[in-house]
Amino acid sequence: MSQTPILQFERVSKRFGATVAVDDVSVDIAPGEFFALLGPSGCGKTTLMRMAAGFEQPDEGRVLIDGADATDAPPHRRPVNMMFQSYALFPHMSVADNIAFGLKAAGFSREALAARVSEMVRLAQLQGLEKRKPHQLSGGQKQRTALARSLARGTKLLLLDEPLGALDRKLREETQFELMDIQKRLGAAFVVVTHDQDEAMSMADRIAVMRAGKIEQVGAPADIYERPRSRYVAEFIGEINIFAGRASRAGEMLRIEAQDGEIEAPARDGVGDGAPLACAVRPERIRFAPAGEEGANRLAGVVHDVAYRGDHRVFRVRLKSGALARVAAPSALPAPQPGEAATLVFDTAACVVLDA
Ligand code: ATP
Repeated sequence: MSQTPILQFERVSKRFGATVAVDDVSVDIAPGEFFALLGPSGCGKTTLMRMAAGFEQPDEGRVLIDGADATDAPPHRRPVNMMFQSYALFPHMSVADNIAFGLKAAGFSREALAARVSEMVRLAQLQGLEKRKPHQLSGGQKQRTALARSLARGTKLLLLDEPLGALDRKLREETQFELMDIQKRLGAAFVVVTHDQDEAMSMADRIAVMRAGKIEQVGAPADIYERPRSRYVAEFIGEINIFAGRASRAGEMLRIEAQDGEIEAPARDGVGDGAPLACAVRPERIRFAPAGEEGANRLAGVVHDVAYRGDHRVFRVRLKSGALARVAAPSALPAPQPGEAATLVFDTAACVVLDA
């Protein structure tokens, strides 16, 4: 039997006046999972999370926590904690006292409290910092203190709203690793709201990509990146080239007559001749074809410009239609210069077939 999900949304909807903030969302989150809610501003991420915390009531549907219906439970009755971007540490209290705070309110005995604080200090790798005040801590240490405080009572579900939003880029990257590390050590499920796709891709076990109150796709980062189910998801996560046109069956393949050339794509069920379809190809799946090489999926163009990214370069290539295609190629490989003609090529398998 599979584990009881730590958090379940069952056909949940929430409206604010005429705005449908969350629209018939169902999703299960597993114990210990790092789950990211990803989407543009206003798509309903925060509302969904606030319904898990109990700060909002759904108009329809149910919220279950650890198998129990929590739909009508007030926030303090839910085995859930929410951590805010500011961490909200008590500035005049030490690390240990901050961690102990929630335990005191829960009526822990002196000994049990001391034992629990020292366990949390160890799990959050704060040894030696117990007596420091928040202003004497680095950003990462503050965050670990806040996490330890949030989870000290044994809460198995933590909701985090843009946990790295306040940090600059370099620190964000380091803190992402720390957050993943501590989440696994503490063993709680994390549900993180973010509009930063790189952050979601790096940290999460699974991502839900949201659009206008609905979950458009849920999956592991590689799944969402390699097998997006819609143009929206494909274009929201990373860079992608879209070649759209009329499709026809060609044996085991699909042939798409795109403006920039004919494309051979993997077959898809239920495609009638002449159906409008798009082939989506990631920039790193495209390469420059050597002169004279023949075969399918070749698009001619002229290199427009190049951006150097260290280990790889991103080329924008102007195709016949005027569209700019992106090609990401290892810097060590020979490549044409801006202004030179180039032929782009990709494997049939690199093409994700989507509705146009
Ligand atoms: P952001 O990334 O900007 O925080 P979000 O994806 O978290 O966006 P929500 O905050 O969940 O989006 O908002 C979803 C929709 O519901 C938006 O159109 C928003 O304006 C609306 N909304 C949210 N809260 C309220 C409220 N209390 N009253 C009225 N409308 C609201």
